[in-house]
Amino acid sequence: MTKLEDRINSFSEYYKKKYKNKTYKIGLSIGQECPQRIIHSPCIFCLPQSFIDQKSKHLPTITNQIDFLTSKLKKQYGDISFIAYFQDNTSTFGDIDYLKNVFDQAFYHPLIKEVIISTRPDYINRDVLNLFKSYEKDLKFEIGMQTIHDKSLLFLNRNHTQKDTDAAIKLIKQYKYMIGVHLLLGIPHESIGDILQTIEYVNAHNINEVKIHNLIAYKNTRYGELYKSKNLPFAYSNLSEYCELLIRIIGHLNPSIVISRLFTSNLNRQGNALNQFPGVKTEWINHLTKMLNNNNVFQGCLINN
Ligand code: SF4
Repeated sequence: MTKLEDRINSFSEYYKKKYKNKTYKIGLSIGQECPQRIIHSPCIFCLPQSFIDQKSKHLPTITNQIDFLTSKLKKQYGDISFIAYFQDNTSTFGDIDYLKNVFDQAFYHPLIKEVIISTRPDYINRDVLNLFKSYEKDLKFEIGMQTIHDKSLLFLNRNHTQKDTDAAIKLIKQYKYMIGVHLLLGIPHESIGDILQTIEYVNAHNINEVKIHNLIAYKNTRYGELYKSKNLPFAYSNLSEYCELLIRIIGHLNPSIVISRLFTSNLNRQGNALNQFPGVKTEWINHLTKMLNNNNVFQGCLINN
């Protein structure tokens, strides 16, 4: 059986080649609340505790967070490389001087090879992008795009439109930084055709990386309540159907695009997720790999089909 890494352009293989070493992302927090929560109301699926390590999140500086996480991972895995991943909330929200101090600590930390900044499309602007001109390490922005369909963004209470995503991507490209996008699979009412339109958009816009999540209904979120109370139509209803959808997506995705995630992680440890697949991530990956092998699908093999 061919391994998953031989069928897709995976994050782990891409970075192993780039830095000649096993590379880990360490999840960091700029220490600011998400503006969507402050100004509006949260996206209906959002569970902030699910983003990063809650112990390191509350350390007083970014240097402290990096030191804590790198020493923990080095003890576990030995000689590895690190990417500073600003993953918590909206990582470009805040006063520019405050942000500069935060990002300086990551870019100038000796153990950090590269920086990834995750944010909302409506928090990309020239003031933010100008901040990064002087750094010498690679930088990637991860944009919470989710889907190209405005009706879905409205349903999710994202409070931005596809036009905002489009504008953010164009602006980041002007600055020649790399771009990743987050995609959500399983938004109620989105058909497989709708999802493939999002993939076509990604292929057409020279995106460097995609991070794919299955939409999780957490208890104590608005989506969790809706999930329990309504009979919503989904593009998949179990692990095999989700893997079938992933196979279509992988087959239609440009092979130059790195895939950094295919499943929302094992979050059901606290029994918080109402629609997580049974089992653990390794089993889901094995299931997907088997199905990719059975259908002989490689990343990009269905483009033009
Ligand atoms: S923008 Fe991100 S962090 Fe903020 S509420 Fe939405 S999902 Fe949560």
